[in-house]
Amino acid sequence: MTIVAVVLLLISTAPAAASTGGAFTAAGGPPPPGSPSGAPATETPSTGALSLLSAQATPRKSFFYGFRYPSVRFAIASTQAQNDLQIDVVNTAGEVARSFYRNDVEPKVEVRIRWDGTTSEGRPARNGRYSFRIEAQGATTQPAARASTSTAPLSLGFALYGYAFPILGAHDFGGAEGRFGAARSGHTHQGQDTMAACGTPLVAARGGTVQYSGYQGAAGNYVVIDGKGSSLDFMYAHLAEPSPLQTGEQVRTGQPIGIVGDTGDATACHLHFEIWTAPGWYEGGSPIDPLPYLEKWDRYS
Ligand SMILES: [Zn+2]
Repeated sequence: MTIVAVVLLLISTAPAAASTGGAFTAAGGPPPPGSPSGAPATETPSTGALSLLSAQATPRKSFFYGFRYPSVRFAIASTQAQNDLQIDVVNTAGEVARSFYRNDVEPKVEVRIRWDGTTSEGRPARNGRYSFRIEAQGATTQPAARASTSTAPLSLGFALYGYAFPILGAHDFGGAEGRFGAARSGHTHQGQDTMAACGTPLVAARGGTVQYSGYQGAAGNYVVIDGKGSSLDFMYAHLAEPSPLQTGEQVRTGQPIGIVGDTGDATACHLHFEIWTAPGWYEGGSPIDPLPYLEKWDRYS
């Protein structure tokens, strides 16, 4: 209850900071909003000799605008009853992507920080490994280390990626006829075909707003997603069944969007995938070659 009171106090006294909390919401099972970043203590920050009783970062891998934000739960030991803490998200080069502040934290009380994957400037953070760093506000010394009284393992690291590979199963990128720009009767191929068994689950490579979900003679069952925090739109075609997504709905990165099929103008089970530049799919944008993107996502998914 103490933590809740502290957070509410921060929101009521620091509206500017609260507005940077990254409170994404989505229809149909949204995660709770991201933690407010908070603000540093207004008076001189005060912290006793600080150490960590426990710290657990979860999950090990997350996606920007995904179902589960990276989060850390921790409890401190301190020689002081109330401690002003700074929690940084740092990359492997030691650069700080985002900072959070929690004031008047008591020893042995669990604190939870959730990161929405955006930098201090509000942009999606780069792909890679990160860790949470917990220290006293204004500290020029080392971050808090394990308390000598604690045997709990400290786990502060995780990975964050901007995109998920859209096919959850065996797949291959096929031959020349499936490439972007391949000749078709009367036009050129606007996407990349990726072969996979009918029924293989598909997920959103990047979440955002469902721009269109429906059926068309050539595309079969298809869905178009306007990517959150991205200028790109993503189109998935030939789904075996209509996508469960409705036009206008919010979808998270990695969220199921349907299954591989061969509806519409298709001779085999595969995903036809398009990427469109701003302002978007049939909104004045242009299709670009998705294969380099798919290959990159495939390497880390
Ligand atoms: Zn195709």
